[in-house]
Amino acid sequence: MLIDNYNEVQNRVREACLRVNRDPDEVTLIAVSKTKPLTDIETLRAHGVLEYGENKVQELVDKYEHIQEPVHWHMIGHLQTNKVKYIIDKVCLIHSVDSLKLAQCINKEAEKHNVKIPVLLEVNVAGEESKFGFSVEGLYASIKEIAMLPNIQVDGLMTIAPFVEDSEENRVHFRKLKEILVDINRKNIDNITMHTLSMGMTGDYEVAIEEGATMVRVGTGIFGTRNYKK
Ligand SMILES: *Cc1c(COP(=O)(O)O)cnc(C)c1O
Repeated sequence: MLIDNYNEVQNRVREACLRVNRDPDEVTLIAVSKTKPLTDIETLRAHGVLEYGENKVQELVDKYEHIQEPVHWHMIGHLQTNKVKYIIDKVCLIHSVDSLKLAQCINKEAEKHNVKIPVLLEVNVAGEESKFGFSVEGLYASIKEIAMLPNIQVDGLMTIAPFVEDSEENRVHFRKLKEILVDINRKNIDNITMHTLSMGMTGDYEVAIEEGATMVRVGTGIFGTRNYKK
């Protein structure tokens, strides 16, 4: 069941790429395993799936410590500065850098471990009240300072699009994020060459891919609906 779901999503990723003449290898499917048991991850891992997304520090650390075969962990949820130290040596990419202060904190912790950590800057492109992320203006205001942090590598941008019935409604937001990435790259800021666009979830990943996503974060479409009551 899980593997069928995963394969189905992977096929749709491929088809979305082909519709817009993109190479399917350009797009990484991240299985968002939040709230789901380790056994689900182990089932997919045995099938060769390596990329997993979690949005809570405690859950990520627990799963990291208990998994048998190593996988790549992506931190995709809002991160408090006081918790950075718990995940700094466990994640391959932090998608959710939403403030200069958080970037500075990640830089400091990465320095302690003598590593350079890849991050994405989260942008609230739709300007939703309820969402974390840089405003577009805030991103432009902070990017040069973030670029100077020696133990951070800014690989690209991430967004969480609004929850909508019709995924077409989010096309403008995905297009906007891509435009921002291209625009910032054109500015030739030292240490900033961005390649990664983390955008698209279960409801809208195909549209996101058509607009240039290089990473899609899919939970429900792979693992089924989440039960938060447990
Ligand atoms: C939960 C979550 C996802 C996956 O959501 P689905 O709609 O279940 O695919 C993607 N990105 C982030 C940041 C999330 O928190």
